[in-house]
Amino acid sequence: MAAERITPLRGRLRSRVRLAPYTSWHVGGPADRLFEPENRGDLLAFIAQQPADEPLLWIGLGSNLLVREGGFRGTAIVLYGALEAYSRDSATTLRAEAGVHCARLAKLAERERLAGLGFMAGIPGTIGGARRRQHRLVDARTLWHRLPRGDSTA
Ligand SMILES: Cc1cc2nc3c(=O)[nH]c(=O)nc-3n(C[C@H](O)[C@H](O)[C@H](O)COP(=O)(O)OP(=O)(O)OC[C@H]3O[C@@H](n4cnc5c(N)ncnc54)[C@H](O)[C@@H]3O)c2cc1C
Repeated sequence: MAAERITPLRGRLRSRVRLAPYTSWHVGGPADRLFEPENRGDLLAFIAQQPADEPLLWIGLGSNLLVREGGFRGTAIVLYGALEAYSRDSATTLRAEAGVHCARLAKLAERERLAGLGFMAGIPGTIGGARRRQHRLVDARTLWHRLPRGDSTA
């Protein structure tokens, strides 16, 4: 039988990490595990190594997240500070990773003279978090990286 190849992780994986510092309200108990990927490839490698039934909690800037004192039984994945690449893809398209702060994308749009994203300047969250909340971003035709789990938007 062929040996399974495991890609070494470059990000930080820790056990029993309090989630309070990762939320704006600074409350909340520990996650069983917390992973902070170094980049998108690292995140994909990590996800591929997880059991299919592992509960995942995606965390952006934590501005719209309340964690109970009992914490989270599963793996929390923090994208802010990790998946932060963004670029102009075409005349009308910006591409952003899930951890990009909304205000940064608004600034990029302004710099690139693209209209329609000015409202994002006041949103205190990441693209992934905002997308999760189904804001007007879809209308703005922002492209999202799709992560390999059904519910994982970015
Ligand atoms: C003071 C304040 C002002 C605001 N003003 C505006 C406004 O003017 N206009 C507006 O549209 N919105 C506004 N919002 C809402 C804002 O859009 C969200 O709070 C923010 O986008 C959430 O992003 P976050 O990175 O902080 O998400 P988090 O708080 O980290 O997460 C929020 C939810 O999204 C999930 N999530 C996070 N990242 C991902 C991901 N990559 N994939 C899948 N799920 C994910 C989390 O699991 C959680 O369920 C405001 C919020 C606050 C607190």
